[in-house]
Amino acid sequence: MEYQGVKFETIFQSEDPEFDERIEDLKYWCSIFEHNDLAPLHPDGSYGNLSYRDKSNSDEFIITCSGAYITNNMDLDSFVRVTDIDIIRNRVYSRGKRKPSSESFLHFLIYQNRKEINAIFHGHSSAILSAPKSLGLPCTKSRKEYGTIVLAENVINVLDDHDFLILKEHGFLALGKTMRKAGKLSLDILKKTQKEKNNENS
Ligand SMILES: [Zn+2]
Repeated sequence: MEYQGVKFETIFQSEDPEFDERIEDLKYWCSIFEHNDLAPLHPDGSYGNLSYRDKSNSDEFIITCSGAYITNNMDLDSFVRVTDIDIIRNRVYSRGKRKPSSESFLHFLIYQNRKEINAIFHGHSSAILSAPKSLGLPCTKSRKEYGTIVLAENVINVLDDHDFLILKEHGFLALGKTMRKAGKLSLDILKKTQKEKNNENS
């Protein structure tokens, strides 16, 4: 999947995203994603994007920027706040120095549809993508182009109340009431897929 940047227009509202202390948790989970090869590098950044909902009564969220290198040493400029999205006009309103993640539509629609969810981690992992059917992981029905509203809607169609979903031939989504839950779920599924594979090979 070749990365070509974001597919929407960004409306910058301010350079200051106004983070609270939870930005440190998001940085921590970015480092865990890198460490476990859940956000592999491409020539212009890392695959994957991680976010948390700002307040329980809003759909604003803090997310990794477009073209972020997801590492254990990210600076604050690599995170931005998405304040609103206009799907009809293909616009994302944001605060911060850089453009929000190309998958901002996806995060936005999930936060709108799942009010109990406060963290969304999207990663890429060949181990998880090739997980055996026996694990019963839910999956989108068809492959869609990254960063499109079509992909976001494709996810919403099958998301139901799942907290984990495979994006067919693309990556995965882990959702949680907290970042810790979304992060632990990602690691648990990774462990399970590796264990299944070892069983198959033995
Ligand atoms: Zn992706």
